[in-house]
Amino acid sequence: MGNKLTWTNNELEDLVRQLGIALEASGIGIWQHNIAKNQTRWDDQLQRIYGVAKGEHDVIWLESVHPDDCPGASTIFKAAIANKSDYASEFRIIRPDGEIRHIRSRAQYFVDGQGEACFIGAEWDVTEDALRNQQLAKQREAAEQSRAEARYAADHDSLTSLLNRRAFDDAFARLLQASEPVASLCHIDIDRFKEINDRFGHGGGDTVLRHVGSVLASGIAGGEIAARLGGDEFAVLSLSPEPDRMREIVARIRQDLHKPVFIDGEPFTVECSIGYAHASGADVAALLTSSDIALYEAKKNGRNRDQLFTPALAEKRNAEKQMLQELRSGLHIGEIVPFYQVKVRASDYAICGLEALARWESPKGLRMPGDFLELAAANGLMDAVDDAVFRRVIFDINRWSMAGIKVPTVSVNLSAARLGDPSLPGKVSALGIAPGQISFEFIETIFLDTLSEQVKRNIERIRQLGIDIEIDDLGSGHASLLGLLELRPNRVKIDRHLVLPILKSETQRRLIGSLIDIARTLEIEVVAEGVETLDHARLLAGLGADTLQGYAFGRPQPAQVTQAVLETAAARKMENAG
Ligand code: C2E
Ligand code: CA
Ligand code: CA
Repeated sequence: MGNKLTWTNNELEDLVRQLGIALEASGIGIWQHNIAKNQTRWDDQLQRIYGVAKGEHDVIWLESVHPDDCPGASTIFKAAIANKSDYASEFRIIRPDGEIRHIRSRAQYFVDGQGEACFIGAEWDVTEDALRNQQLAKQREAAEQSRAEARYAADHDSLTSLLNRRAFDDAFARLLQASEPVASLCHIDIDRFKEINDRFGHGGGDTVLRHVGSVLASGIAGGEIAARLGGDEFAVLSLSPEPDRMREIVARIRQDLHKPVFIDGEPFTVECSIGYAHASGADVAALLTSSDIALYEAKKNGRNRDQLFTPALAEKRNAEKQMLQELRSGLHIGEIVPFYQVKVRASDYAICGLEALARWESPKGLRMPGDFLELAAANGLMDAVDDAVFRRVIFDINRWSMAGIKVPTVSVNLSAARLGDPSLPGKVSALGIAPGQISFEFIETIFLDTLSEQVKRNIERIRQLGIDIEIDDLGSGHASLLGLLELRPNRVKIDRHLVLPILKSETQRRLIGSLIDIARTLEIEVVAEGVETLDHARLLAGLGADTLQGYAFGRPQPAQVTQAVLETAAARKMENAG
């Protein structure tokens, strides 16, 4: 039928019928609006869509339109009339039964046979589409929301809500890319966090972490970053060019930390060690190391303090690292050896024991325990030192015995933590020590409160191996007599700081006298340490000490010298006997 100019009636009727079917099938309603007469005709389909029956001259369209959509719909309609233009609109209607439907409307402007301006329009129900679009929009929004949440979770620590290590590293990497970087960094570490966890459980530990997190968050200004780097380790980064800004932040953090946090209703004051550093230009790259060195220094100086980084600290740290390396290799090649100091009977000064004291025969000279034990302890090498000394002691005892020398009991010092080590008795028993040959000296600090079951079991098994237990440095400040009672050591050693002043101080004499009385009552032998003169020796013997040890009877000596001392003593004894 393409480009036909004239139509037969039959053809037109066919066409109208076809259109009618098509419109009905598609659900499209048709309207025609005469602008001049303001009259609208709706076909049946459109009346069905709106759910209203419309008289020929009624103008009821806007009455059905949803009040919220009315202004918009009518503005578009009026604009199309004014411009004599085509028209496209979408709006909601409310049907008489209250149902809301979404309607799409298209219309064309034309002039009819009478020369009057008209619109002819088609409308159809797009409610399904509209609802689907609404739902899609909601889903998109939810997806965007969860993407945002995922982004947040990837960058933040869930416990403290601070930035996490990844985000912190990113921020630091961005800083390094700046053309003129300048920044301050501080490292914060909670003191004795493991003990906090042990004491309050993980819930309590989390409370402490959250507390520190909120202290840090409130200590910084916009543009500054607080992050939890992991465990109980935190960091604050400031891009302020002012070196004093970090000092301010640190002061504020420390002040806020004074306020207690409540764990199970119990107030607890969190202590932290803080190291911080400021740098600009190329030095910024070293900030992480610098503030970490400062933190290490703060911890080493007794924790619960802050420390600003200085180049001198870095030098010190390097020297320490160097020494640590030397200590490791020294342990490996047998440079850690025992020196021996004699213990004598208070009654006749006869040698009744030896104490093995660690010495480091390093290529740089002889080093004393005070020079390297702290370093060893801080780096987990304490057991290795103890073991090295112990093995050499066993070796020396065997060598001396084979040479026919009668070796008195040798005591070795063990770090306190060792007594809780379940593998200790097994290791010791593997060494095949004859009963009475060895005794162990433990510093009194471990007996703070009641003993753990593990410690008690270890002590029992050590005793069964014929090894005596001695409490070292009694009176140096931490002894708990209760702990002592429970442990029942074979011997206590009175600290040399109590012994030294006895010649001059009556009070000190009485104090030592009482300690000796208590030990006596418990049937524990008493060794007095740091006996520097024979006057001390006489006085201590008078107060009831069983054994004396100190420079008055000999300094700690290498194995070779000690062997000669033992031989001379044996010879003298023979002479006296003969
Ligand atoms: P300690 O167990 O109390 O050892 C006694 C310390 O006092 C020794 O110092 C000794 O040389 C010193 N001394 C002995 N007589 C006198 C005296 O008359 N006057 C004075 N002023 N001092 C005297 P040293 O050898 O420097 O050892 C220091 C500490 O290092 C020891 O104190 C001990 O706690 C620890 N230590 C030594 N060797 C070892 C070891 O192999 N393992 C462990 N865990 N600790 C050790
Ligand atoms: Ca000792
Ligand atoms: Ca001691």
